[in-house]
Amino acid sequence: MQFVNAESFEDWRNTARRLLCEKVSPEDVQWIAGVAQPSLFVNGQTAVSQPGESVATVPKAFLTMARSVSCHRDAARWGLLYRTLWRLTHGIPHLLEITTDDDVYQLTQMQKAVTRDAHKMKAFVRFRKVVDESGVENYVAWHRPDHRIVRLTAPFFARRFKGMNWTILTPDESATWDQRTLTFGPGIPASKAPGAEALEELWKTYYASIFNPARVKVAAMKREMPVRHWATLPESSLIEDLLRQAPQRVEEMVKKSEGFAQTAMHYMPAHGDVPDTGSLETLRQAAAGCQACHLHQHATQTVFGEGPSNAKIVLVGEQPGDREDLQGHPFVGPAGMLLNEALDLAGIDRSQVYVTNVVKHFKFSETSTPRGKQRLHKKPDSREIFACRPWLEAELAAIRPEVVVCLGATSAQALFGRDFRITRDRGELLATDWCQHTMATWHPAAILRMPDEQQRRQMKDQLVNDLQRCGS
Ligand code: URA
Repeated sequence: MQFVNAESFEDWRNTARRLLCEKVSPEDVQWIAGVAQPSLFVNGQTAVSQPGESVATVPKAFLTMARSVSCHRDAARWGLLYRTLWRLTHGIPHLLEITTDDDVYQLTQMQKAVTRDAHKMKAFVRFRKVVDESGVENYVAWHRPDHRIVRLTAPFFARRFKGMNWTILTPDESATWDQRTLTFGPGIPASKAPGAEALEELWKTYYASIFNPARVKVAAMKREMPVRHWATLPESSLIEDLLRQAPQRVEEMVKKSEGFAQTAMHYMPAHGDVPDTGSLETLRQAAAGCQACHLHQHATQTVFGEGPSNAKIVLVGEQPGDREDLQGHPFVGPAGMLLNEALDLAGIDRSQVYVTNVVKHFKFSETSTPRGKQRLHKKPDSREIFACRPWLEAELAAIRPEVVVCLGATSAQALFGRDFRITRDRGELLATDWCQHTMATWHPAAILRMPDEQQRRQMKDQLVNDLQRCGS
């Protein structure tokens, strides 16, 4: 029997590689979980595979899964991962597709728990400003995740708060960003978390301005914002007041189509209506009644995504157009026709692809559309995108595709962030929080709108090429 220790994904990977090379079967290994206070400055330097040494290959999906599962708190995770790796490389290469297999089922459950926890951390972390002796502003947050997800989520915060010095403290470990480098340190007990500072007041103002009274569901709020997080959320003291004022504010808000601060987009816990499920059918049914923003009032119906739940490719458009709204299916109008043609040319079977939109209700200008005429689509604003986003996240979490293709700038910015420029960054395969391989390309409607014939042809070729690369 070999006794091995793992504290991080890198530790596990290196040790698992060595064990695999030495043909040590899972029954002969006892995995010892990491100690409570990890040696965080050690960067998993125990690589054992030598240059040129052949290590068995496994599906990429397994490595993605292993990376998430390694954050799970269950001490059994390392042994479970090694047993799965062993089986994948000893006669069952398609093991992950056998969803009824006990090991695969357990891993999937663990991965889901970690993903959920990571989403919650992204939604609930609140920074407080702390100015040090030299006058430098630092932002500090305290959070208590269910799993060991600090390293998993830290890159998200580094991207989102690129221009701030911040530290997130958790009982397991801490992450610090100095606007250039992420470093990890030991965990900090709750008693050492910084006290309330000016930022707390700012948060309160913020929360009051983005609080959406039309969506108040106390039970859902409690579920999404677990009570144990409330103590660290400055806005929680406002909730009661806001709930009391809610009815008067509803009408006022419904009239407004804009008006939520851009920066609030990533903080608002707007997930109350989305069932916690991997079933696309359940999601579709729930989305049919979605009233998270005002668009449902004029649209004919919710146009949810369509395609197989095991699709390798997910295409994400902006929002349904006139035809989609009437028929209830995504991309069935003129843009859909061009998309079908591009998919054909790229050798991709549309029936194997999941097609959806960032916003699931049609938006049009009622005043500029004569009765009976095709209604012209209006671009969704940031609040509508934000309100609808949990559906897209739930679709992506349920499908876990190999590639996500954003069609157009709205979709690209929803997934990559507002700095993304389709003209500059089109065609690049990049990792996002939702998929290791995410790409943005032209929206078919943008191609159709292009007045110059030559440019139109060039954009269409680029769309086909991009799709081809994603399909291969
Ligand atoms: N444009 C989109 O972005 N989505 C559709 O479903 C149709 C047109």
